Amino acid sequence: MIRTGKQYIEGLRAPREVYVGGERVVDVTTYPAFHEPIQSYARLYDMKHDSQYQDILTYTEEPGGERYDISYLVPKSKEELKAKGRAYHTYARASYGCLGRGPEFMAALIAGMWESTDWFEQWGEGGAQKVADYVRYVRDNDLFLTHALGNPQSDRSKPSHQQANPYIHLRVKEETPEGLIIRGAKQLATAAPVTDEILVFPNGRQFGPGDDAYALCFAVPTTTPGVKIICREPLVPESRNVYDHPLSSRFEEMDALIVFDDVLVPWDRVFFYNSLTAANNMRFMTGVAAFSGHLSVHRATVRAALTVATAMKLCNSVKTDVFPNVGELLGRLAALYKAQEALLFRCEEEPRVSETGTYWVNGDALSASGLLFPDFYTTMLDVIKRTGAAGLMLTPTLGEFTGEVADLANTYFAGADDMPGVDRVQIAKLAWDLAGDSIGQRLSHYERFYIGEPMFVASFFARSADMGLGRELLENILAEGRALRDAALESRPGS
Ligand SMILES: Cc1cc2nc3c(=O)[nH]c(=O)nc-3n(C[C@H](O)[C@H](O)[C@H](O)COP(=O)(O)OP(=O)(O)OC[C@H]3O[C@@H](n4cnc5c(N)ncnc54)[C@H](O)[C@@H]3O)c2cc1C
Repeated sequence: MIRTGKQYIEGLRAPREVYVGGERVVDVTTYPAFHEPIQSYARLYDMKHDSQYQDILTYTEEPGGERYDISYLVPKSKEELKAKGRAYHTYARASYGCLGRGPEFMAALIAGMWESTDWFEQWGEGGAQKVADYVRYVRDNDLFLTHALGNPQSDRSKPSHQQANPYIHLRVKEETPEGLIIRGAKQLATAAPVTDEILVFPNGRQFGPGDDAYALCFAVPTTTPGVKIICREPLVPESRNVYDHPLSSRFEEMDALIVFDDVLVPWDRVFFYNSLTAANNMRFMTGVAAFSGHLSVHRATVRAALTVATAMKLCNSVKTDVFPNVGELLGRLAALYKAQEALLFRCEEEPRVSETGTYWVNGDALSASGLLFPDFYTTMLDVIKRTGAAGLMLTPTLGEFTGEVADLANTYFAGADDMPGVDRVQIAKLAWDLAGDSIGQRLSHYERFYIGEPMFVASFFARSADMGLGRELLENILAEGRALRDAALESRPGS
């Protein structure tokens, strides 16, 4: 099925333990800091029912059959891979690339588990079936998931089992006939308070000997007794309007730590446990990273398009773009955007076809985007700040342009070519939401870390990247040197 936004919001009324600012939130749907983001997520659900988008965002298993979000599809042709890409692009446009974790993100991710069900069978009989059943359950009910992969930072110099409190990192406490009792915490779960389910699996950090009890993968409903969601301080605690805050008024995604206080996870929801090998390899050996990464490349490209266009418009509004130094900065931003677009193109145009006939996005292009985009994006924001200068600070509210000093404000905040103040300031406000406001800082931080620990991702890429041409050239040049050496040895007197 595909849910409507209203059905999604109804589901959120089920009691859950969510804490913000030291208080328990009674109803997440009416809590001010969650209200607008929930509406933004609900709009993504509604788009699936809109005839303009339905055929892009959904698929059926047979003609006229039940519709499902296309993010769940395991693509078996290049056309299906590209159809998923079109959906990701459409979703990303709806939030200007500012919702990293709409429902479609985890739908895409668990499609990657579905692709790799056989991999789960290795860690316990029936593992493949459990994963397949779970993914089908989530898809058939069009649920919104969060995932919590990392351990609390506590003491990073020590493995999980050597932390001062052995239950600070989430672990198995007990096995029972009904399932596992788990205790401890996981971070950082974006959107957790407003989701239906929590999926926990290890993030590729290498667990070592002694950490077996911490090496587990499971899913539970967000409303499960004992699940406590502790949110960070809201960045946008009050309601804002789309003139003054075009992005932060709608797209703040909450981040949370999740405490599992002796939670029972039924056996059919335990996908593996007590397995260091499974824990250390799931991220790299299943489709979770590649399938969700496909969506993220689209989302990043859409936001890059907006960010670079905003930088250009900001400069043009006061004609600083006529100066060659500013023009160069903007040209370099355009180049970064085009490089990102090219990586996305290669992701879909040169897919890898696995033995099971699944079409995977091009792994090299995906990893290159994941590793490079945080720096591309930091540069984009830096150029906005350097070129926007005082204009980014001097941004009165809409009230100034509709109240007593409206004429003065329009005159003295004016831009080049008689652009009224209300129009120039609007551009500066968007630029500030992107580059300066707390939501902009969070989005930039998100780009740096959402793919997981960059150190592990990069070192894995050092081993997996296709370096065929480089290796061939290297061998050639070394062979040339060796030939010279051999000739020199042979020509030595007495050889
Ligand atoms: C905005 C945002 C949203 C996020 N959303 C989610 C989400 O929805 N779900 C989710 O599961 N995660 C999410 N994350 C978490 C993200 O996956 C992690 O931030 C990332 O994996 C890095 O882990 P960490 O933050 O624990 O950093 P740490 O591991 O604490 O690293 C901190 C620093 O110490 C260094 N370091 C740490 N350990 C070692 C070591 N052993 N050897 C050498 N150097 C080390 C690192 O290189 C880094 O520089 C999100 C993060 C952010 C910022």
